[in-house]
Amino acid sequence: MTTEIVQLCPLIPALEEELAQRFTVHRLFEVSDRAAFLAEKGGAIRGVVTGGHIGLPADIGAALPKLEIVAINGVGFDKVDLAEAKRRGFRVSNTPDVLTADVADLALGLILAQARRLPQADQYVRTRQWLKGDMGLSTRVAGRRCGIFGFGRIGQAIARRLEGFDAHISYTARNRRDVAYDYYDSIEALAANCDVLIIAAAATAETRHIVSAEVLNALGPQGVLVNVARGSLVDEKALIEALSNGVIAGAALDVFEDEPRVPEALFAFETVTLAPHIGSGTHQTRRAMADLVLANLDAHFAGRELPTPVA
Ligand code: NAP
Repeated sequence: MTTEIVQLCPLIPALEEELAQRFTVHRLFEVSDRAAFLAEKGGAIRGVVTGGHIGLPADIGAALPKLEIVAINGVGFDKVDLAEAKRRGFRVSNTPDVLTADVADLALGLILAQARRLPQADQYVRTRQWLKGDMGLSTRVAGRRCGIFGFGRIGQAIARRLEGFDAHISYTARNRRDVAYDYYDSIEALAANCDVLIIAAAATAETRHIVSAEVLNALGPQGVLVNVARGSLVDEKALIEALSNGVIAGAALDVFEDEPRVPEALFAFETVTLAPHIGSGTHQTRRAMADLVLANLDAHFAGRELPTPVA
């Protein structure tokens, strides 16, 4: 009898195949009557494989009394109740580091796309508008003041890339780092002193809606908000109001509060660039993440230390 696990979201085919070779995998996201399935099979399940955006919903966790490990295919663990994991004694792993470069690359891509109007430029050529005249001007990226909120793995990788753009870099995190960039001890102060506010912090109860109306006010009418962290950090209603009233100039967003549902009000703004949570979405990184998911599951079921446990 192979070990039984549940899979909470689609994964790359290679990972799904390798999971199927090791385990009996129940694809819960394809089950129509989830409650009935969990009532019947939940008692046999020892592992969960999930995405960072899904984590372990409380009702599913409660229906898995023999749960030993939650392997997250992603770095964010905000949707897994770690206090509950500790209380019940199940382990949690994630896939840090391997996705850092891709998410930082995407942040730079969004900054450039928003400022240089790359989505509009592509459309301009494809719809033959160029034949009628040149496209209008855009905004320079080089030399801009960039403030990074959250200075962990991804925040620091964004800073390294911004150096290549001669940007003036500043940051806010809970702990000040030994780096040459300006440090501000609050997001309001950071926002007041930058043109591009880049959100790269962990999603926690403390950072929920930390990009508030006040922060957007501080960012100001030339300012642009870039979010590659989690939608929960931004008060989307306040953002839409700020964009409508010219309180800030624009935004570039990879993550949203209620994915994949994106507030349609955002579609109306020419100065907003949108992406469907693709920060880590390259073939290379998704393969490396898959390897880490498997390595954590293998280590757990062999009774070894996890390679990348969530502390
Ligand atoms: P990390 O290394 O753990 O860094 C998190 C950073 O957040 C740290 O600098 C931490 O500050 C800071 N932070 C936490 N709470 C804070 C607070 N209250 N005030 C100020 N700063 C705070 O994580 P990471 O690997 O860089 O990931 C960062 C974010 O990216 C996460 O939200 C993750 O979910 C998201 N992410 C998005 C994608 C995507 O596809 N778009 C992909 C992967 C990850 P200290 O260091 O001072 O504690």
